[in-house]
Amino acid sequence: MPHLPALSSQEIASVLKALPDPAFLLTRSGRYAAIFGGADVRYYDEIGFLAGRTMAELLVPAKAEWFVGEIHKALATRSLHVVEYGLDSNDILYKGGRTPLKASWFEGRVQALEFQVDGEDAVLWVASNITARHQLEAQLRLHSEIDELSGLYNRRKLMGSLTEHYQVFARYGTPTTLLIFDIDHFKNINDQFGHLFGDKAIRAAADVCRDELRSTDFPARLGGDEFVVLMPHTNRDQAAPIAERLRLRVAEALLRLGAVGGGATISGGLSEFLAGDAHAEDVLKRADDALYRAKRGGRNRIASV
Ligand code: GH3
Ligand code: MG
Repeated sequence: MPHLPALSSQEIASVLKALPDPAFLLTRSGRYAAIFGGADVRYYDEIGFLAGRTMAELLVPAKAEWFVGEIHKALATRSLHVVEYGLDSNDILYKGGRTPLKASWFEGRVQALEFQVDGEDAVLWVASNITARHQLEAQLRLHSEIDELSGLYNRRKLMGSLTEHYQVFARYGTPTTLLIFDIDHFKNINDQFGHLFGDKAIRAAADVCRDELRSTDFPARLGGDEFVVLMPHTNRDQAAPIAERLRLRVAEALLRLGAVGGGATISGGLSEFLAGDAHAEDVLKRADDALYRAKRGGRNRIASV
């Protein structure tokens, strides 16, 4: 038995009250049997009103079911069960006359107890508010996936997405087409109008991608004046008119920018995943070969393979 100072039950209650994170005593059926702590007012509102209430009373059904499910998991394993979850006003049915909860993220550490509470199995659920960390992580993830100049996905994110779609294709045969396009004689645009104008042209091409494509399409900037559009659930024949439309629209946008006397154009290469492909990159290589042919063939065109 570890050494325990001789504390009165009043003192023990005061110790529990001082815990910065709230600790909920929850029963198998999802009832808040007791609440301790939550003293850190920077992160926790007054939560005493929860005591004696059930998850079903307090939360929307889907959320209540989730909490009860996690309680059951912790009871089944008997070991520490760690979960992450979001909560906002839309999840909460009974607010105890309180102002709406700001969207928040929590880490819950859930441990089965060795005794019953009010005739039910029970767990201790300690919640930590991790909203700030969660927001920072989301921001970092976004920065690591987005190309700063164009706002499109970057090469790293594209390669990840390409691999995921290749796996779906390999398993289910879902047709997926990739377009790679590149601005024609972009060096001349930079030379004639300056690098900043070149940047504007890159952003204009990205805007066209955002406006013209479906929300399930995946436009990315590969680097320089090179872009890729991944089109899931689309075979090469279906993608051909989309690529043509993009070719015309980008040229129109570059003309509107006031670039070069006759405007600027793009060339593209189109290819889809094929049964013999061994790697996700195979389609990129084929589309790149097609782009090379489009350039050699006189530019301002889409070639497919
Ligand atoms: P082609 O028709 O064969 O594509 O000719 P091109 O002149 O467009 O040749 P290429 O695609 O090789 O040239 C790309 C140029 O893009 C070279 C580089 O100086 C320029 N570039 C690369 N990144 C950026 C950028 O972020 N901003 C600007 N303004 N220019 C860039
Ligand atoms: Mg180019």
